[in-house]
Amino acid sequence: MLGEPLQSRVRVRLNELLNSPATGAEIALVERQLTRYPRGMIAVGARCRCGRPLAVVTRPLLNGSIPFPTTFYLTSPEAVKAVSSLEADGTMRQLSERVCQDQQLKEAYEQAHQAYLLFRSQLAELLGDDDSHIRGISAGGMPVRVKCLHALVGQSLCMGAGVNPIGDIALNMVAAAGRFDSNLCRCSIL
Ligand SMILES: [Zn+2]
Repeated sequence: MLGEPLQSRVRVRLNELLNSPATGAEIALVERQLTRYPRGMIAVGARCRCGRPLAVVTRPLLNGSIPFPTTFYLTSPEAVKAVSSLEADGTMRQLSERVCQDQQLKEAYEQAHQAYLLFRSQLAELLGDDDSHIRGISAGGMPVRVKCLHALVGQSLCMGAGVNPIGDIALNMVAAAGRFDSNLCRCSIL
């Protein structure tokens, strides 16, 4: 069960995001960041200080037929590269072990999973998307493993600190390494 503070946080954030839908200019900018068209992009979920997207919110069903579980998608090339460097360093295995061993972290990670599912199911309901194929499946290896830090960092950026503990740890690690910091603009795509 998702705790009440997180439930209301999910609802507030969803409303904020749906009240500022992606503009054509934002979609074009994300297309340049990803070098492909961002199908199903609903809104910019997190921004750099300069205003450019760091991560976007994607609808649960693309083109009315393709289930898309990764609701929070990291798009900033600088952030993607920084998180990839963590994955290359074996950080995922290390963090998976921490989730296994630390009961408090394990519970917080389970809550992040539940918050992800609640956000996506509410989004699916509001958009009329059929999410039955991905129900119960979140992203990034949640609730017990750490498989894709990009997805977890995407959730941390879109929902804010204090929701996904592993995404938060990964963000702190890349900031400490001087690789990416959401408070510093190093955008290369203008
Ligand atoms: Zn920037």
